[in-house]
Amino acid sequence: MVDSVFMAELSWPEWQQRVADSAIIFLPLGATEQHGPHLPLNVDVILPTAVCERVARATGGIVAPTIQYGYKSMPRSGGGQSFPGTTSLDANTLSLALRDIIRDMATHGARRFVLINGHFENSWPAVEGLDLALRELRRDGITGVTAMRLEYWDFVRPATLDRIFPDGFPGTELEHASLIETSLMLLLRPDLVDLSKVPQEGRASFPTYDIHPAPPGYLRASGVLADARGSRAEIGQWLLDDHVELITAAVKKEFGL
Ligand code: ZN
Ligand code: MN
Repeated sequence: MVDSVFMAELSWPEWQQRVADSAIIFLPLGATEQHGPHLPLNVDVILPTAVCERVARATGGIVAPTIQYGYKSMPRSGGGQSFPGTTSLDANTLSLALRDIIRDMATHGARRFVLINGHFENSWPAVEGLDLALRELRRDGITGVTAMRLEYWDFVRPATLDRIFPDGFPGTELEHASLIETSLMLLLRPDLVDLSKVPQEGRASFPTYDIHPAPPGYLRASGVLADARGSRAEIGQWLLDDHVELITAAVKKEFGL
C-alpha cells in the first residue's frame, strides 16, 4: 500500500479503499497569478496545497490535485489581470470544472469533501461549483455528500496577528504578495523567494469601490498591495501552525472524527 496523502500518487484500488473507509477529500483551490517581483506565480497553489497536505495527514484524508488556475485577479485583491503571467479562468469555467471534479469523485464513492481556497477571487465560483455538484448528485440519487469550503487565512488566532502586526492587522485583502504570503513562502519554498526584489513602496490605498476597466494609476506597478518588508520564515511558521491546527479542529468537529 502506497503511503501518500496525495490522490495522484495512489492506485485506483487504494483510492477506492480509502474513500470506502470514509477518507475526506481535500481539494486545494489555487491560481496562477502575479505575486510581485519577489515571488513566483504559483504562491496561491503552494500555500493551500501545503495546508491541505498537513490537515489531510492529521485527519486520515486525501489531497486531490490542486486546481492550478483561479478566477480572474482583481485590482484590489490580486493586482488585476493586466500583469503578464496572471492566467485566469472565467467564473463559469472554474465553477463547472469544480462541479465535474466533485461529481466524479462522489460518483466513485467519495462522500466527504473539504475545499480549501488559496486565492481570494475563487470564493464565489467555488460556492457555485459545489452547489451545482450537490444538486446534480441529488438528482442522480447520490446522497450523503457533505462538503466544507473555507479560506485558509481565516483560520488564525488574533494573538498571532497581534504578534505579526503590532500596529494593527490591515486586513487580508491587501495582503496580496505581502508580509503573510511572503513569510509563508520563506518557510515552505525559500528557493522561490528573492528578498532583494521586495518593493519598498509601502501599502497601496484604494477607494472602497471598483472601477472597470481600472483607470491608469489605479494599479500598483509592482503588483504588491501591502508591505512585504520584514517577512520571515518564523512568521510563516506561526501562521501555518494556526492554519493547520484550527482547520484540523474544524474538520474533526464537522465530520465527527
Ligand atoms: Zn496570493
Ligand atoms: Mn491570489
